[in-house]
Amino acid sequence: MKECNLDRRQFLKSAALSAATIGFSQQAILERAEAATRKTDYSQKIPHRPLGRTGASIPILQIGTSQALDQEYDKILHLLFREGVYYLDTALSYGWGSSQKAIANFASQIGGRHKLWITSKSSAWSLDGFAEDIDKCLADLQTDYLDLYLSHSVNNADAINRDLIQIGEKLKKSGKTRFFGFSSHGGNVVALLNKSVKIGGIDAILFSYNFRRYGDRELSLALDRCKEAGIGLIAMKTMGSVPADAEAVLDFKSQSFTLGQAKLKSVWADDRIDSVVVEMDSTKVARENIAAAKSEEQLTANEIHQLNRLAAMTAQYSCQGCSHLCEEAVNKSAKIADSLRYLMYHECYGKTDIAKEFYHLIPMNSRSLTEQETIIAQSVCPQGIDIKSRLELAQKTLSS
Ligand code: SF4
Repeated sequence: MKECNLDRRQFLKSAALSAATIGFSQQAILERAEAATRKTDYSQKIPHRPLGRTGASIPILQIGTSQALDQEYDKILHLLFREGVYYLDTALSYGWGSSQKAIANFASQIGGRHKLWITSKSSAWSLDGFAEDIDKCLADLQTDYLDLYLSHSVNNADAINRDLIQIGEKLKKSGKTRFFGFSSHGGNVVALLNKSVKIGGIDAILFSYNFRRYGDRELSLALDRCKEAGIGLIAMKTMGSVPADAEAVLDFKSQSFTLGQAKLKSVWADDRIDSVVVEMDSTKVARENIAAAKSEEQLTANEIHQLNRLAAMTAQYSCQGCSHLCEEAVNKSAKIADSLRYLMYHECYGKTDIAKEFYHLIPMNSRSLTEQETIIAQSVCPQGIDIKSRLELAQKTLSS
């Protein structure tokens, strides 16, 4: 992997080159790039960690691109790139394909795709579809290889099998991807991690992990096993988001960090985690996250205590996606975890349109529970979520 941080002169040159392709005058783009880089501190780099045993060293901060990207000139991607965040996490489905196309344009503006690490994912249901989708990813991204190709949103350990591993091996041999693995939003994460260790052939796993998961002994042991097996671990959903008014129950106080920065620091404090993928939908958030990544200061005991209190006080709003507990308990095709995840997209990220689109894919009879099923599901929920009222809210908010 080549060093991907441009120095200031290189950046100005490549920004100017990109001007020709997107229609700005040479002078205008130089002024714009000059202004954008004036305050950038190039002396500090984003720390890197090895990605499992892949041999790759990656920055501890990555950008997740399911957020809307500017198709012509995405100033957040440019800001992050200047600061050494050159790892982009996308998927065939993000923005219904627009994410990958925006990244292709961005790559041409910074001087070439080889300056980026690109992870993409396929949600194909079949193994053949998974193999075919990589060609669509490569076409959208205008490249001939991915750095990491993931089977998207795996939540059943049975899906981690020899057939999948063989397809991954084949794709790596073909040169279409350097590394291979899967992502998971939920299900039995411990089982997924343990199966990956047992079966071998998984280079990296992208999974939900945040300050709310500390203290989960089984998860911690599974992370140890993955680390021992050399599997790269990348965390997502690191904000552990709940609605803003619920989170306001705690007035986070710190001399050094915002609450968002503290949440990131808490994940980086776990050295089994190689990197985190975070959505950054404003330059303000991007700058905050960059500053947190570069800071060598660690959380104080008091700051950790506040995060623990926040986790406890807001647990009932934070679905962990452990669908194997509540959904298997009611023994039906209920989609509790998905419904609550889409509600979170609406409540926490303001992504109401996407939340509605996904929610509409859930069959009507999988959106609610009977009284008896509700009692059973709630009795096994480790978060103490009022599943009945949350499902009703999802129905009311997202079904229109
Ligand atoms: S509702 Fe509770 S048991 Fe069900 S997935 Fe969410 S956190 Fe897990």
